[in-house]
Amino acid sequence: MGREEHVILAVMHSSSSRPTYCIVDLGAIAHNIARLCAIVGPHTQVAAVVKADGYGHGAVAVGRAALGAGASWLAVAFVAEGLELRAAGITAPILVLGWTPTADAPAGIAAGMALTVYDLDLARAYAAIARSQGRVVRVHFKVDTGMGRLGVLPGEALACIRALHGIDGLAVEGVFTHFATADEADRTLANTQLQRFQELLAALQANGLRPALVHAANSAATLSLPESRFDLVRVGIAMYGLHPSDVVPCPPDFRAALAWKSAVAQVKRLPPGHPVSYGAEYHTRDEELIATIPIGYADGFRRITGANLALVHGQRVPIVGRVCMDQVMANVTAVPGVALGDEVVLIGRQGAETITAEEVARHWQTINYEVTSGIMERVPRYYHTP
Ligand SMILES: *Cc1c(COP(=O)(O)O)cnc(C)c1O
Repeated sequence: MGREEHVILAVMHSSSSRPTYCIVDLGAIAHNIARLCAIVGPHTQVAAVVKADGYGHGAVAVGRAALGAGASWLAVAFVAEGLELRAAGITAPILVLGWTPTADAPAGIAAGMALTVYDLDLARAYAAIARSQGRVVRVHFKVDTGMGRLGVLPGEALACIRALHGIDGLAVEGVFTHFATADEADRTLANTQLQRFQELLAALQANGLRPALVHAANSAATLSLPESRFDLVRVGIAMYGLHPSDVVPCPPDFRAALAWKSAVAQVKRLPPGHPVSYGAEYHTRDEELIATIPIGYADGFRRITGANLALVHGQRVPIVGRVCMDQVMANVTAVPGVALGDEVVLIGRQGAETITAEEVARHWQTINYEVTSGIMERVPRYYHTP
């Protein structure tokens, strides 16, 4: 995209009057990061994980806020996400957590990103690209200690890292692993993974191969498994003030950063037995006040019936009938005086009531991660700066 298009888009967005939007409190992000820095202490760095557009909060704004509050790294899933940060002028170290196909490596290396490696042929390809650029690619070696996802099994890791050290144009900056169950009550697998990782680290140490940055912890491990903090922690969900899980919640003073709001487009009194929405699944029981709200499944508001709700005038109201692509209807009969333009809250606080991303996740039978990262791009994000 050219510069002009960026400017035009920015203007369009800033003048957009779409009443359905997210507000992201960057003060909350900064507070949570500062607290995480304090929790891990001065010898452990914090990498703010801003993949998936910052879990739906906006990667650039969150990344800047996190760096300003004490994080020293940003982590993304793939190179294009890192390029967005670089294009915004962010110069902090960036770690690409996922597979970097060789086609994407030149841009990532030229932008100074650290790449995850778990395959010697890929690593050699990255190194060749780096040499052709007159650069050295920094890599973090990934060990699969029990997640069964990316990474080399512990038994092969020492030999692999030794081989990596022999590749010209490549610097082994880090070694890391990822926990499968750090957010669960049963600590067995997390402890086993940690032990396997520690054994590998001992072997690396004994062979003079320990990289500068050893890391393992996601948010849940950072909060619940202090021995896993090592040189750096990779925190995503907790930075957003969202709980890693019910059994590993954020500390009570952490603040949820995101609110999701809309407004009443129409409110009308429907007679008893009147259908509402597609399929006419819902019929008014008595005379009901029905509010139409301009948010739908194409905004990421999940198309389920029965459990969705919203706040209007500080009261919980049920969403009734099917969720449409761009609209939903709420039964506001119990709320006096609802009028066109009144604020509707889908996630966040209104008056004395709050709907959390965790509560929405329960209704949708998923996790808070999927709720916020599933809020679509067409929902504008606005920012509260501290
Ligand atoms: C997404 C991700 C994280 C962050 O996890 P949270 O649970 O959000 O803290 C850390 N490490 C890796 C490898 C990831 O993919």
